[in-house]
Amino acid sequence: MSSEIEQSEAQFNSAAQSPGRRGILFVVSAPSGGGKGTLIQRVLNKVPDLSYSVSYTTRAPRNGEVDGREYFFITPDTFEQMVAADEFLEWAHVHSKRYGTSRRQVSREISEGRDIILEVDVQGAASVRELIPDSVSVFIVPPSFEVLRQRLRARGTDSLEELDLRLRNAPRELEHYSAFQYLIINDDADRAASELRAIIQAERARLSRQESEIKKIVNAFTASEIDSNSN
Ligand code: 5GP
Repeated sequence: MSSEIEQSEAQFNSAAQSPGRRGILFVVSAPSGGGKGTLIQRVLNKVPDLSYSVSYTTRAPRNGEVDGREYFFITPDTFEQMVAADEFLEWAHVHSKRYGTSRRQVSREISEGRDIILEVDVQGAASVRELIPDSVSVFIVPPSFEVLRQRLRARGTDSLEELDLRLRNAPRELEHYSAFQYLIINDDADRAASELRAIIQAERARLSRQESEIKKIVNAFTASEIDSNSN
């Protein structure tokens, strides 16, 4: 990327740093194997002031996954206790396991003005849209069922049974596409990552999200107009 483009990206992103600003919640969903993990990682590496919500799950860690990084891996009993204590912003059964988003992490990031990405299934995305209407939802789809199958196989981390379950659930997950605001067809990892970055930048630039900033600027303009008239 040229330094000129990087510079303009930094200018866009400076919108995310104004004091008093509420963080934006980005909800990203895709069928398992849609490539969203890699995509989100690339975007997190490039976009400043953006964090990632680490979910809780009852599924076992895959090879290479670290507790507290990809997920907090917990027992069904602990999950149950967290549900009872209302610790999840949303939770759902996905591929016969349970997954939940930490209410505390999300509200801390948002109230401290940091944007946060939630990677959840289509049920989780529907719950978050309802709870936080100004959240931004992005659906990522593989270009075809065959590509999804190949990606899941190549990942080599799921048992045959899990792979089969994920492939069987994919068509139903895809049917939810129309509930999302943005769609990314993930046929090329670089292009898909730059589209997700563009969505984040565009949302940061929305006037409604910069209300307090623009008021300060307009007030300063008005004050200098009064000053120059009185001179
Ligand atoms: P995986 O086991 O392949 O990491 O994830 C399986 C599915 O669970 C994916 O569709 C993923 O987006 C979803 N998922 C991950 N974390 C959460 C969460 O906190 N809530 C919900 N509802 N779904 C989640």
